[in-house]
Amino acid sequence: MSEAATFESLGLSQDRLAAIEAQGWTKPTPIQSKAIPSALKGQDVVGIAQTGTGKTGAFMIPSMEGVEMGKGLQILILCPTRELAQQVAEDARLLGKGTAVRVADVVGGVGYEPQIEALRGGWEIIAATPGRFNDHLERGNVDLSNLRVLVLDEADRMLDMGFRPQIEDVLRRSPRNRQTMLFSATMPNGVHALALQITKDAVWVEATPSGTVADLIEEEVFMVKPGVKPELLLHLLEGENWDQVLVFTRTKAGADALSGRLERHGVKTEVMHSDRRMQHRVRALDRFATGAVRVLVATDVAQRGLDVEGISHVVNYDVPMDPEDYVHRIGRTGRAGSAGKAVTFVTAGELGYLKSIEHRLGRSLDRTSLEGYDYAGESQSSSEQDRPKHPRKAGGIGTRSADDLTEEELQALLGHSD
Ligand code: AMP
Repeated sequence: MSEAATFESLGLSQDRLAAIEAQGWTKPTPIQSKAIPSALKGQDVVGIAQTGTGKTGAFMIPSMEGVEMGKGLQILILCPTRELAQQVAEDARLLGKGTAVRVADVVGGVGYEPQIEALRGGWEIIAATPGRFNDHLERGNVDLSNLRVLVLDEADRMLDMGFRPQIEDVLRRSPRNRQTMLFSATMPNGVHALALQITKDAVWVEATPSGTVADLIEEEVFMVKPGVKPELLLHLLEGENWDQVLVFTRTKAGADALSGRLERHGVKTEVMHSDRRMQHRVRALDRFATGAVRVLVATDVAQRGLDVEGISHVVNYDVPMDPEDYVHRIGRTGRAGSAGKAVTFVTAGELGYLKSIEHRLGRSLDRTSLEGYDYAGESQSSSEQDRPKHPRKAGGIGTRSADDLTEEELQALLGHSD
């Protein structure tokens, strides 16, 4: 499929072109060029695209072209997280600029009343999380009879989170002649099957090969002793250009503890995880996005849908256990054409997870160690020529902590490539 170089050549309305221009978008991203022409014709679309590729515009721009005022709910976008639903709604408002189209987000953790008003009032566009939306469906607050476009955004994540029953409920109650679009960063079997099941003659478009990392992201792995992660982070935060830093920890308690520690060292920090109330999460995101704080410490709740421009660095303070999470986490930087850097702290006990990530990516990640922080006490590299020709097998080490390992085992692991 040839890719359109301009929005004008896509056949969009003047209102939409003006709204796009007001956003400062000068040309369509690859996924937009691929998806918009087919979606405008009413075709179903399956898009393999991660956040950061412009996927929201890819489904929102064409769907909005057909909206008719006063005809009730016409576009429904289901999203895995509150943050993403709110972001998608915000994008729809911006793309609807200059028209009277009404957009609401319907998410959990906030009051029902304004949502009921929007749903009963037949607002044209709703971005929702499946749980809360189904609550409203059950209560009879939603009329889906005029639904024209149903979008499942980040379908892989929604299935991971167990939203299949709610999604199926919405599908069952939606008009059969609707247009369906499914976007997903990855295409594991379950999502693939769902896509085939719910779309008809869909065009399949792909932003980048499934699960790949944007070219503009520089990645680096620090091999560290378990106890030095906080000091290493503080050290790196002193570096040039570490302006807006998103740090991922594995646990909520870990996020709270790290945030406290950074604050005690004078680094302004916010925390975001699922135990925090909605208004705290919104405030944290806001303070991070506006630069009131430089560091946001988060668990994977913030991983998808978080759309903050200008994140300079993503730090995997703990190595994600699921390789897909690595791709999504680091996709928070290097967005829409700007460069970013992702660093990952790896202890000997986390090497197994790192290897799964490298296997998933199909390439190895550059390893660095800083004197005083590294677990072997000397600088190591993982480049091919530095590896021993016959690396020692160090079976079962992936789950042990560095303290359990002999110096010899550590050395073997550092040069070990399988
Ligand atoms: P998304 O993948 O939809 O989350 O979009 C990622 C970021 O890219 C958002 O900040 C969008 O505002 C921005 N964006 C989307 N489309 C374009 C475009 N055509 N040109 C420049 N930026 C864009």
